[in-house]
Amino acid sequence: MAEIQLHNTLSGKVEPFVPQKPGEVRMYTCGPTVYDYAHIGNYRTFVFQDILRRFLKLRGYKLLHVMNLTDVDDRIIANSAAAGKSIRDYTEKFVQAFFDDCKTLSIEPPEHWIRATDHIADMVQLIKRLQEKSFTYPGEGSIYYRITKFPAYGKLSKIDLSGIQAGARVDNDRYEKESARDFALWKAPKPGEHFWETAIGPGRPGWHIECSAMAMKYLGETLDIHTGGIDLAFPHHENEIAQSEAATGKPFARYWLHAEHLLVEGEKMSKSLGNFFTLRDLFAKGYKPSALRFALASVPYRKQLNFTFDGLTQATNSVERLRNFADRLKTGKFPAGKQEGMAARIAKAAEEFDASLSDDLNTARALAAMFDLVRDANTAIDKGEFRQGDVVATQQFLAGFDRVFAVLEDNDAAKLQALGFSASEASLSDADIERLIAERNAAKKKRDFPAADVIRKELADHGIILEDAKDGSVRWKRK
Ligand SMILES: [Zn+2]
Repeated sequence: MAEIQLHNTLSGKVEPFVPQKPGEVRMYTCGPTVYDYAHIGNYRTFVFQDILRRFLKLRGYKLLHVMNLTDVDDRIIANSAAAGKSIRDYTEKFVQAFFDDCKTLSIEPPEHWIRATDHIADMVQLIKRLQEKSFTYPGEGSIYYRITKFPAYGKLSKIDLSGIQAGARVDNDRYEKESARDFALWKAPKPGEHFWETAIGPGRPGWHIECSAMAMKYLGETLDIHTGGIDLAFPHHENEIAQSEAATGKPFARYWLHAEHLLVEGEKMSKSLGNFFTLRDLFAKGYKPSALRFALASVPYRKQLNFTFDGLTQATNSVERLRNFADRLKTGKFPAGKQEGMAARIAKAAEEFDASLSDDLNTARALAAMFDLVRDANTAIDKGEFRQGDVVATQQFLAGFDRVFAVLEDNDAAKLQALGFSASEASLSDADIERLIAERNAAKKKRDFPAADVIRKELADHGIILEDAKDGSVRWKRK
């Protein structure tokens, strides 16, 4: 097996991955802020960290992985107050939707899924440690972090702070500060809004302190890996480092991994451009969870991912090709014995797959290794050269592949139904469509036009449009 190499934002380099404790990985992922449905850009990051944890597990590591749910922030507190609901009642719907979405995308649950509101005491304790070391100052009932006390500030994002002038606003805090760079650890209560009565006064935690306190509570003062979207590197992760390292005097996280942005059809995703999609938006258009997972996983995490509907259709076809191949191995009848060279061909694919993911999670290269083997094996099967004795090794390689990519199980319809999409809204696979078209052609051949029309209508109900060419062939497309 190849040595695992990961790009560390902290050093700016690809480095060999060596956890603190042999065989065990302590990892933290910044989870969603649960005031709305998460969008596909968020899920690009969550699928990336899922591929990472699944690959580490495949390589035999024991994972201790924590993901938080930010269920306290200014918007949540203001929105829940406006709705006359408790924070828990207001966020519950979005927490549940997030869990459901993760399940639908086959994102494995981390070992700990934790809520910020369950850890206020831990945050207060961490702020007290910072107070004792004079890293804080008060202002109008809030408590701020004094960045000038932490000279290493900026080491993660390499941000040039000289450009940030006093009085400029770098975050959404509406409080008075000594320096624009400083950030709130604890925020004074606002009239009519929820607050906690604590040893450091009444109020609510700042966003950054949440992650520092929760990560260290479950994973210790030095984590192996911290992941998140690239947009979190500054200021959020920079502030996490400042808080944690000031309190403990130890490195906070040894490897920082950041996923790049997702674009939609080449443009930044935004509600005003009408290219803003939640998972449910895409499922309502008839796309499958497996295709979306495949599309999000197929581009290496440090490259921008240009999400397109053409790409999603290609991903649908790719998943179909893999599933068909797995079926072919399962149900095919092959001559006994082994094909000459096939065992070595499979071993080469497995080695290339491992080398690709070890190479800073190069998922595109790993997929190419898989599809090259599928092509070669399919050719051998078509020629009648593939033998029964090679089936198990091929299936073992497929199983290893699927422990990371998780797209082979044909469970899209059940997942969509669990999300509340009816069976008719659930999309047809390409194979289903081809089968129905073949049935329609057969009906037309028999001049059973009513039967052919019924099939055309069934396809239309699923958003599939048929075009009959003059030469008798039929082309189809999704609406
Ligand atoms: Zn965080």
